[in-house]
Amino acid sequence: MIVMKFGGTSLANAERIKNVANIINTRLNKKPIVVVSAVGGITDKLIDLAKEASKGTNPNERVEQIVDIHKKIIKSLNLNDEFLIEDFVKLYDILNGIYLLRELSPRSLDIVSSFGEIFSSKILSEYLISLGIKSKQYNGWDIGIVTDNNFTNAEILEKTYDNIKDKLTNVKDLPVVTGFIANDEEGNITTLGRGGSDYTASIIGSALDVEEIEIWTDVNGIKTADPRIVENARQWDKITFNEAAEMAFFGAKVLHPKTIRPAITKSIPVRILNTYEIENRGTSIVNEDNEDVLFRSISLKKDVTVIRICSTKMLMAYGFLARIFEIFRKYKISIDIVSTSEVTVSLTLDKVNNGLKNLQSAILELEKIAKVEVLKERSIICIVGKGIRDKSGILKRIFDVCRNYNIELVSQGVSPLNISFVVKQEDAENIIKELHKELFEK
Ligand code: ADP
Ligand code: ASP
Ligand code: MG
Repeated sequence: MIVMKFGGTSLANAERIKNVANIINTRLNKKPIVVVSAVGGITDKLIDLAKEASKGTNPNERVEQIVDIHKKIIKSLNLNDEFLIEDFVKLYDILNGIYLLRELSPRSLDIVSSFGEIFSSKILSEYLISLGIKSKQYNGWDIGIVTDNNFTNAEILEKTYDNIKDKLTNVKDLPVVTGFIANDEEGNITTLGRGGSDYTASIIGSALDVEEIEIWTDVNGIKTADPRIVENARQWDKITFNEAAEMAFFGAKVLHPKTIRPAITKSIPVRILNTYEIENRGTSIVNEDNEDVLFRSISLKKDVTVIRICSTKMLMAYGFLARIFEIFRKYKISIDIVSTSEVTVSLTLDKVNNGLKNLQSAILELEKIAKVEVLKERSIICIVGKGIRDKSGILKRIFDVCRNYNIELVSQGVSPLNISFVVKQEDAENIIKELHKELFEK
């Protein structure tokens, strides 16, 4: 048995979906469980639409566009769109609810974002059936994926693994499962964080002890940098679980940060493959490797917000940091990087929080105890590799490259494998290009 996960770029239109069906067809003897993301770009559109509707923009025209994208795909695949009509109507109703109430909670945002994967999985499954491949579509909750209620970034509960085993062990028809979406214990829809379909794939792989987890995307595996920024970024044949986890955490979009964890615990190989170049062997993620590679990658996490909390009197006072973190906990806002100096604590937050009420409420509460500065449009640059251990030499090389830019926050992290720092968004891509030259092209 294997898990095959297809990302949004691999499902962007009817031609790509045909290609995916083709790839699945070559693997039928391995009994694949297929996991899919939403059609490329749809999750962004849904989130944006929900936020706009809550601010008073009538959503109907834009819902229609999203519905049309899917109807067009369905038509080009020679299918009848009946199987999605009910879901289309539900999407209209929910967005109109948000529009009328002018209110968007993380919980209702998750309901809206879940439609992308529901649509794409139903389309792929129907298409496979039309090709004569017996298939069945499942939503994350149908196979028992249960999470906490941390909406927009929920965490799996342990019982998920047994549930999946019960539901999928003896199925006959090829399962096509929604990535990214699940239920909490009360049956509310939750999502696993942006890019979370990778995580779904690895949870299912681990629950069923599969031979391999294949992550099919639009690049030949993991590279020294995002090829969209650095054209000549090099491909790795293999990298370690730890390196992959660090890269993913700080933005290398190619893999969702938590993907690796369930796979490591069972030592299940994960391979990143390219749907545009099926023969390429991609990148395997392995437990250990003896290669002495100093640097693996430079990654970028965009649209980060930095919160600077200044308090000359309070900062070192007993319990002050705890009070700050308690406020973030209360509003369920997760923090990526923390750095403290004598008078300030700086934190970085992911872009999911932008525009949501929770963040505004948290800031209001922080302002009661300290001066708060919010810096928007920042990026985190993160360098991953064993070479980081040699701190003094490498830091000098990195900061020499960056000397003409403003670096706002540096964190060497808990692990010896990465160093990350925050810069202005407008500088980020240039810095990455220059760092790539320094670390990989000499
Ligand atoms: P999918 O839709 O398949 O999940 P994603 O867009 O989430 O695809 O991830 C694939 C993208 O990740 C690539 O198109 C590439 O631009 C980006 N990426 C970022 N960092 C890297 C890296 N180090 N190696 C390869 N791809 C990367
Ligand atoms: N569709 C979701 C997203 O865009 C999940 C995924 O693509 O993995 O974040
Ligand atoms: Mg992805």
